Amino acid sequence: MGTAAGFDALVIGAGVSGLTTAVCLAEAGWTVGVVAERPPAQTTSAVAGASWGPYMVSDPRVLGWSERTRAVLEEIAEDPASGVRLTAGLEAAPVVAEPPSWATAVHDFRRCQAQDLPGGYLTGWRYTLPLVDMPRYLEYLVRRLRSAGGDLNFGIHVSSFGEVGGRAGLVVNCSGLGSRTLVPDGGLYPIRGQLVVVENPGIQEFFQDDVEDEEPTYILPHGDNVVLGGSAIVGSEEMRPDPATAEAILARCAAVEPRLKGARVVAHRVGLRPTRAEVRVQYADEAGVPVIHNYGHGGAGLTLSWGCAEEALGLAGSCGTAGQLRSG
Ligand SMILES: Cc1cc2nc3c(=O)[nH]c(=O)nc-3n(C[C@H](O)[C@H](O)[C@H](O)COP(=O)(O)OP(=O)(O)OC[C@H]3O[C@@H](n4cnc5c(N)ncnc54)[C@H](O)[C@@H]3O)c2cc1C
Repeated sequence: MGTAAGFDALVIGAGVSGLTTAVCLAEAGWTVGVVAERPPAQTTSAVAGASWGPYMVSDPRVLGWSERTRAVLEEIAEDPASGVRLTAGLEAAPVVAEPPSWATAVHDFRRCQAQDLPGGYLTGWRYTLPLVDMPRYLEYLVRRLRSAGGDLNFGIHVSSFGEVGGRAGLVVNCSGLGSRTLVPDGGLYPIRGQLVVVENPGIQEFFQDDVEDEEPTYILPHGDNVVLGGSAIVGSEEMRPDPATAEAILARCAAVEPRLKGARVVAHRVGLRPTRAEVRVQYADEAGVPVIHNYGHGGAGLTLSWGCAEEALGLAGSCGTAGQLRSG
């Protein structure tokens, strides 16, 4: 496999879940290796928009994990090279609705007057959220992991936990949708998402609608570019961008923010959200290999990343301290 043997923990997966968990373990003193089929820039995580907010995920633990992640991202945002920026903006619903509890908990949350909302929206609120330029943020996590001594190897497909079990005291499974075959987990399914990236015509604030249907609308500015969304098609695995979907995204976003009309398209992005009835953060003995699972984050992998990674670290600590597992 081309990896050094003898890690305290071997993390499978180099998306936001794998890298964040690896950083947590390495900064807590564990020797950590990461193996992944796809490098960070080619993962679902690199496709995400990405804004903080527990969307398209159901699990009673989600609120705690999300809150923890927001606190960590707010600290990380102090580093301008991290790709994380605290950004003010508007969230709106097309019906009369109460904002979710996780939104009202944000310190500068305030409700809007109807006349301050774009056409077609009846309820809205403003707050400041971490917006994350995911390709840059994944590079930041890689740098942070390397400086904590982490080892990364890409282009490696793991077919079973037994294949890597001898290389570390503990295996941490952050393989996202790959867990369908690796575990195997029949309860995991994709929700396809498509985004359009355009040149930024001067937008500083985010907009997102508070709907969970197949056509969410969001506008996420990242400096020179703006990420426009989106779509959510359950079960679809089509990785080619659909031109009609892209046109519909551009039209919906331009209806909210007229400056986007005619904006130059820079890229189309498609990804499959790894979705499950509940996020799986859990210890399991997989045919004699101690494994901590951390996958199935749906449309909220960034939002849950630090909360889930710290929970995985806690589970790892209950299995044994760094070094003990390897020698024991
Ligand atoms: C269009 C879109 C918009 C989104 N917007 C947001 C947002 O605004 N906010 C938010 O919080 N979330 C958002 N998400 C969701 C988020 O992207 C996912 O929840 C998150 O990326 C999942 O991360 P992960 O690390 O678990 O999986 P992935 O990023 O898919 O990484 C999985 C890793 O495991 C590796 N792997 C898989 N199988 C194997 C194997 N057998 N052997 C070796 N390696 C393997 C892969 O190669 C990869 O490196 C969005 C998703 C999409 C598609």
